[in-house]
Amino acid sequence: MDKILEVRDLAVSFETYGGKVQAVRGVSFDLYKGETLAIVGESGSGKSVTSQSIVQLIPMPPGKFESGSIIFNGEDLIQKSEMEMEKIRGKDIGVIFQDPMTSLNPTMKVGRQISEGLIKHQKLNKKRAYEKSIELLRLVGIPNPEKRINQYPHQFSGGMRQRVMIAIALACNPKVLIADEPTTALDVTIQAQILDLMKDLQEDMGMSIILITHDLGVVARTSQRVVVMYGGIVVETGTVDEIFYQSKHPYTWGLLSSMPKIDADNDEELLAIPGSPPDLLDPPKGCPFAARCSHAMNICADEMPKYTTLSDTQKTACWLLTKEAQSIKQSETVMA
Ligand code: SF4
Ligand code: MG
Repeated sequence: MDKILEVRDLAVSFETYGGKVQAVRGVSFDLYKGETLAIVGESGSGKSVTSQSIVQLIPMPPGKFESGSIIFNGEDLIQKSEMEMEKIRGKDIGVIFQDPMTSLNPTMKVGRQISEGLIKHQKLNKKRAYEKSIELLRLVGIPNPEKRINQYPHQFSGGMRQRVMIAIALACNPKVLIADEPTTALDVTIQAQILDLMKDLQEDMGMSIILITHDLGVVARTSQRVVVMYGGIVVETGTVDEIFYQSKHPYTWGLLSSMPKIDADNDEELLAIPGSPPDLLDPPKGCPFAARCSHAMNICADEMPKYTTLSDTQKTACWLLTKEAQSIKQSETVMA
């Protein structure tokens, strides 16, 4: 499969009153043409910062690129100016966020908000942009688009507003769509409709999607591959099947056991992972999950685990998988 985007060793920090927060600490992954890649993790794992870095939507300062590269079309997006990025955001990489109310302009009719990008980036005239906006609203399943186009965001329901956001993101036929918790604010039925809509549009338009979510149910429904983030690093990556059925990382196991199952008995216990994520003002030098991991060994707190390659598609950063750890485990047992 062809790569469309390549993130390498990305590190991003934020200057705060308390000091420097190392939000993303060396993240690497690829995005292939036509796939949906999920980035999962709890809040504070660095998943949103990673996705916002791709389109340079991190305010700098206080944000700062510490290192790394984001290669798109053979060029490093980190080196781009704001003007160049604005073009890329309107044309090549579309973005959808969780709360359309904060991304839509409340004082502007939705038709104008969709048309703007079409006029600016696709050089359509006003009339053609207006017609295309109606087409787009119809495409994302908004009934009566000729009338709706002249309404303001507050006249739409939450689900309909998210459809408008998708229409705006799709207006310029992006090659990559970044969707950060696109359905989190919506109820379950609407959520399913929006995810199905994104999937249909992806098939029609052949775009690649990066889907940021904390919800493994959403991942199962939409994605082919998964990146699991914790404490600003990628702890495991694999196909959906590898992550759901053959995960080798204790944090992924924790995520899976805290996922509600549709066919589960009502009294089946959902196991939330005890403890809280690491403080990235002063990140642990070893495995970020060590303080919460029931399998942790002495080495875990001292040294960052290396990646073990388990298949062409699966990689896991956990000391349990390495030869070093096997001998450490034995000696720790002997000592105990
Ligand atoms: Fe647990 Fe150690 Fe593996 Fe981290 S490296 S997940 S602390 S066993
Ligand atoms: Mg987030």
